[in-house]
Amino acid sequence: MVRALNEVPNILWLEEIRKEDIISVGGKGASLGEMASIGLPVPKAFMVTAQAFRRFLVETGLEKKLFASYERLDVENNEALEKAANGAKTMVLKAKMPAALKDDIRKAYKKMNSEDLIVAVRSSATAEDLPDASFAGQQETYLNIKGEAALLDAVQKCWASLYGARAIYYRAKQGFDDHTVNISVVVQQLVHSEKAGVMFTSHPITGEPLTIIEGSWGLGEAVVSGSVSPDKYVFDQRSEKVVDILVSNKKVEIIADGDHGTKIVDVVGARQDAQVLSEAEITKLATYGKIAENHYGIPQDVEWGIVNGTIYILQSRPITTIGSKKEAKEMLPGQKQSAKIILQGQGAAPGIASGRVVIIRDVKDTGSVKEGDILVTKMTSPDMVPAMRKVAAIITDEGGLTCHAAIVSRELGTPAVVGTKNATNVLKKGQLITVDGEKGLIYEGEIAHAAPAPAAAAQQGVAGHANIITATSVKVNVSIPEAAARAAATGADGVGLLRIEHLILGLNKTPGWFITNNKEEDFVRELHDGIKIVLDAFPGKPVWVRTLDAPTDEFRNMMGGENEPHEHNPMLGWRGIRRDIQSPDQFRLQVESFKRLWKEGYENLGIMFPMVSHPDEFVAAKAMMKACGVDVENVTLGIMIEIPSSAIMIEDFIKCGIRFASFGTNDLVQYTLAIDRNNENVADMYNPQHPAVLHLIHTAIQVCRKYNVECSICGQAGSDPKMAAWLVEHGISSISANIDAIAKIREAVARTEKRIILEAARNRDAE
Ligand code: PEP
Ligand code: MG
Repeated sequence: MVRALNEVPNILWLEEIRKEDIISVGGKGASLGEMASIGLPVPKAFMVTAQAFRRFLVETGLEKKLFASYERLDVENNEALEKAANGAKTMVLKAKMPAALKDDIRKAYKKMNSEDLIVAVRSSATAEDLPDASFAGQQETYLNIKGEAALLDAVQKCWASLYGARAIYYRAKQGFDDHTVNISVVVQQLVHSEKAGVMFTSHPITGEPLTIIEGSWGLGEAVVSGSVSPDKYVFDQRSEKVVDILVSNKKVEIIADGDHGTKIVDVVGARQDAQVLSEAEITKLATYGKIAENHYGIPQDVEWGIVNGTIYILQSRPITTIGSKKEAKEMLPGQKQSAKIILQGQGAAPGIASGRVVIIRDVKDTGSVKEGDILVTKMTSPDMVPAMRKVAAIITDEGGLTCHAAIVSRELGTPAVVGTKNATNVLKKGQLITVDGEKGLIYEGEIAHAAPAPAAAAQQGVAGHANIITATSVKVNVSIPEAAARAAATGADGVGLLRIEHLILGLNKTPGWFITNNKEEDFVRELHDGIKIVLDAFPGKPVWVRTLDAPTDEFRNMMGGENEPHEHNPMLGWRGIRRDIQSPDQFRLQVESFKRLWKEGYENLGIMFPMVSHPDEFVAAKAMMKACGVDVENVTLGIMIEIPSSAIMIEDFIKCGIRFASFGTNDLVQYTLAIDRNNENVADMYNPQHPAVLHLIHTAIQVCRKYNVECSICGQAGSDPKMAAWLVEHGISSISANIDAIAKIREAVARTEKRIILEAARNRDAE
């Protein structure tokens, strides 16, 4: 039923609401009404409409005062923003709710006649021009509310949440007119869930017809907030079968706290590791999810709860990250208008950012880079890192997923697109653009897009598995010490690769310069201090530091770079361990910093030699370390497998005493397939899953297993969940991935291990 806005009552009941009523009850409310109308089990509810909120603003005389209070606010000024938001929220909280409105809410509450009159109160934002208004910071929910006074208070708090600092900032940035943004409040019978969680009716990233359900004990807030590692179930809609069950250790649950609010309590005894959902419940939930998805025509993100064997659907909203397949390539999440793509490359560091172009043709120009600019350059270099820290996004002409720009951007958490071929020509200084670092797309202008809420939720769900214990260690790669804290926050089992060349190149002087200018101590100290930051972030966990591996062209622009040889192909040139062996002083300085760290008690420090092609090189490097005074038999020394010869000869390396080997697939792929890893013209032929590469990896893993030598991967391929699953199946002992990939790699590893165990058990049973 279409109602004139001024005729919309203060209260609408669930049964009266359809999806068209967004303007009155917001996305959340409308979706609940629609789901109830198609027969899904939604708990009893009524909504305090957006028009009721409007009447509240008008009748209390707040409307003008409220908006005037932050009309000229500079939302970039944090202090001013906080102050304005607090002021606005206080105005809404302190205003006296008109008597008629109070009465309507009280009557509805009584009429609800829920068993114990305990309700959940949730805000549901609406905006005239954005049907799926999912504004950040407006998801206030108050659970376990009992009694009229508490209900009225919770409603007013939901209204006030419309003026939180984050919400005001977000709307200002998205260009919403605050005068037209409204809020409705959903008052819903509280389901005292014994078990609850979330469900993605299709895979949230790929869109495959796989229903993913996460569930845990108690109220669903434990899963939604990430305070527990939930069980995870996968139901394949094609075969209509449960295809994966991952039971987690559930340490806590959230339950109602007496008459008001909720509390977190410990899950005790066998319930911690017990499977939350039965196969029948998974199947029924997935069926409900499918009904909702079919009805809306788009995959849904559903919250559910189960009490006494009865399933309730508590909320459903679209997963906009998948969208229609056609749109997915061209639209940003929640993007309102279509946008023009002006350039394309490889998405190298995820995230979306808008800003003005600053083109850097020479590192000397980086002084002109301002906070929030978009740095456009042929290829970044280590001396550009200070500028890279400031910018909102990075775009390069050259490079692939393993180039300098890609590695550093990922660690800085800055969106980046590499290998666009001609960004420095196509883009103009000062041009306003939007960069999608996931898809590798560059749009004209500043594109309004919603915060990628469902993707973030999916991510959060995955991150919620951070304390899953896997038999295969999941480690993290680090290149700049300032990323150490972010890397450690992933819960990784150690550092599988610390590239020290970024640390040294950042000093802007070649190692040779330090030596010829009698500044050896400065070099040793810088290296020691940088590595120590990473070691301190991973106490007791292995940290494998790689000795210097920078191609000569990367040294050229630095002080001392004039002495670097000119090489036709630096990738095949004087780098890695071959250079160190021929440059004893350069090697000695590195060893000196390692020695100091071992002496300080960092027994978790392991050393990895790069670009090793023959066991003789390992033997030589070890002997040089010994000559520097290292007790080489009692420290952890290993090699990278980056050259096919080292994969082929792995047994000989083991016999020479390596403690571990780690696949550097970035190079292993380029040397096996003769594909320059930084050449965008052949980027589409760069294939880490080429049968020849997989053959080398498989063979080397088997040999390492035979001798019980740890075998790992630290190339970019280890950050691909599909590759990670393959590696686990083939017996790798650890995987070291990029910071942003740890959650999904851990999930892929856990899932694969579980599948292997299940298959083994089934085979045993069948025998
Ligand atoms: C590799 O080659 O896979 C690797 C990790 O080393 P880099 O990318 O530094 O060459
Ligand atoms: Mg390498």
